[in-house]
Amino acid sequence: MTRSTVTVGVIGAGLGGLSAALSLSRAGFDVRVYEQASTLREVGAGVQISPNASRVLHGLGLAEDLARAGVRPLAWHQRRWDDGRTLLRTPLADRIEAAFGYPHYQIHRADLLDALVRAVPADRIHLGHRLTGLSDVGDRVRVDFDNGARAEADVLVGADGIHSTVRGRLFGDDRARFTGCVAYRGLVPADRLRGLDVEVTAQVWMGPGRHFVHYFVRDRRLLNFVAVVEQDTWTRESWTDRGDVADALRAFDGWHPQVRAILSAVDETYVWALFDRPPLDRWSAGRITLLGDAGHPMLPFMAQGAAQAIEDGATLAACLKSSTSDIPRALRAYERLRIPRTSRLQGMSAENKTRFHLPDGPAQADRDAQMAAGATDWSFRAVAWIYEHDATAAPAPHLVHPGRAT
Ligand SMILES: Cc1cc2nc3c(=O)[nH]c(=O)nc-3n(C[C@H](O)[C@H](O)[C@H](O)COP(=O)(O)OP(=O)(O)OC[C@H]3O[C@@H](n4cnc5c(N)ncnc54)[C@H](O)[C@@H]3O)c2cc1C
Repeated sequence: MTRSTVTVGVIGAGLGGLSAALSLSRAGFDVRVYEQASTLREVGAGVQISPNASRVLHGLGLAEDLARAGVRPLAWHQRRWDDGRTLLRTPLADRIEAAFGYPHYQIHRADLLDALVRAVPADRIHLGHRLTGLSDVGDRVRVDFDNGARAEADVLVGADGIHSTVRGRLFGDDRARFTGCVAYRGLVPADRLRGLDVEVTAQVWMGPGRHFVHYFVRDRRLLNFVAVVEQDTWTRESWTDRGDVADALRAFDGWHPQVRAILSAVDETYVWALFDRPPLDRWSAGRITLLGDAGHPMLPFMAQGAAQAIEDGATLAACLKSSTSDIPRALRAYERLRIPRTSRLQGMSAENKTRFHLPDGPAQADRDAQMAAGATDWSFRAVAWIYEHDATAAPAPHLVHPGRAT
């Protein structure tokens, strides 16, 4: 089978599914994306795209789109919740590009989605197709959609998010678990904050039981914030809902005036229940595999969920390209390359819930001392293994060809 005749069906047109579709079609595969929504939309919020992900997107020809739409922050600035004292300041901008070869961007999700949509041929994206059934018939995978349509592909990729139907069909319907955190998100027009003189950094304010992140997007015209609050239960029907600004302000009572001023300046906020799942040992069965949040949902406390989804697509394309004659083997190579890395990040993201939210006391003083020494998860030394990774690299021959020595 030649690459151009290998067909790949991708379920889900989020940031993960679309970037995978682009990686796969640039590698010569015949790709179709099926999305349940009738229009392609991202939530009104920002996303950080670290060098490991911008490397992949540059390779896919999106360097100019990122440079146009993204903001390159000067630093990460981690601060104390009440007096704003600096806990750690890590330089970004030119320094991160010099260290890892690619920029770190903060970008509006809709702008990134638009860039991906423009790059994937429109006739390859099928909207209004909600996957309802799938079967692996040995040499093909058959899929059924709620609109009555059916399709077949040589490979099926479940990029259908944390509540993935594909994952449920492959590995059972274990439910995503509520992490005990909710996130209020919003975008504030920057001109409302002029008096604050907010610097162009990604700021993370840490305090007891909660933290607050903010950074600019859209040419610094909008300030994106994420306000994370611990709470015991999530009782609303939906996992995302319109939030009440007054509730968010109450949750940050007593916090630094800059945090409260940003919250006070927003017109509307949405509240997300944050779910995750433990890492899986396998993502693939036969010709079907998982990608992005479907395979490795994580708390957003390392800002790596979308970045890892983008990496997944690049590595999947590289593995399939190396072994079109044995697709199940190529998918096993893909998961062997990806699962250790994403599982580690799932664990680190969960640990940050505790670290970021320590009550004032001895443990928090220890954490602050470690940060002052530059020995934490966002110092350059500690993030190098994440940011220097090249997900586009071809897999070692022994992973994709039987009998090859390691
Ligand atoms: C508050 C917050 C902040 C974050 N910040 C960052 C950050 O700074 N950096 C970062 O890298 N990550 C971040 N993340 C994580 C990131 O948003 C996700 O990891 C990423 O968007 C997942 O992309 P995905 O394509 O895998 O899934 P999704 O975006 O969930 O896309 C799944 C798609 O599949 C479709 N779908 C679902 N079921 C079906 C079906 N049965 N049939 C057809 N289509 C279906 C859905 O409609 C959707 O379009 C953050 C997350 C949160 C909550």
